[in-house]
Amino acid sequence: MNNPQLRVLIADADIDKRVAELGAQITKDYKEGDLILIGILKGAFIFVADLARAIHRPVRMDFMGISSYGKGKTSSGEVKVTKDLDTSIEGANVIIVEDIVDTGVTLSYLIGLLHNRKPRSIRIAALLDKPDRRLRPVQVSYTGFTIPDEFVVGYGLDFSENYRGLKDICVLSESE
Ligand code: 5GP
Repeated sequence: MNNPQLRVLIADADIDKRVAELGAQITKDYKEGDLILIGILKGAFIFVADLARAIHRPVRMDFMGISSYGKGKTSSGEVKVTKDLDTSIEGANVIIVEDIVDTGVTLSYLIGLLHNRKPRSIRIAALLDKPDRRLRPVQVSYTGFTIPDEFVVGYGLDFSENYRGLKDICVLSESE
């Protein structure tokens, strides 16, 4: 990419505040039963770590690796499981924790896959939602922020494995 430019879209203080609100809502919604957070690698690793600490009840955690984007900015349209869960989710309440819902292809595939493993319930928590780009309908129960159709990095999100460590969520663009 020539001259990458970063513009802050959501500042870290606003992310912290919103994640605390989502955690409080989840704490309220799950008064009993086993709750397992499934973080989708790699993009959701920071979000799921912060969200787990904002939920004030016991949670189990597991991770799945999914690849659908390859190395660039556009989806390959193919979903591949690169790392499966280590634990059973049978009978548990599951929250899939995703960084961003874009076309919805990844999440609709995942919901189908996890459904077959007989959890008690499945919901989705997504830090970001880009509804303009949706190709498959997905119901997101806990959304951090709805954003326009722009490519974002930071707070776990990358471009070719860079920028994941930025505290703010930034729009990445190219200037002449
Ligand atoms: P979907 O299957 O919904 O199209 O794609 C979801 C995945 O695409 C996300 O988990 C994320 O990895 C990637 N993705 C979608 N939009 C963006 C974006 O703006 N920035 C980054 N870094 N990844 C994105």
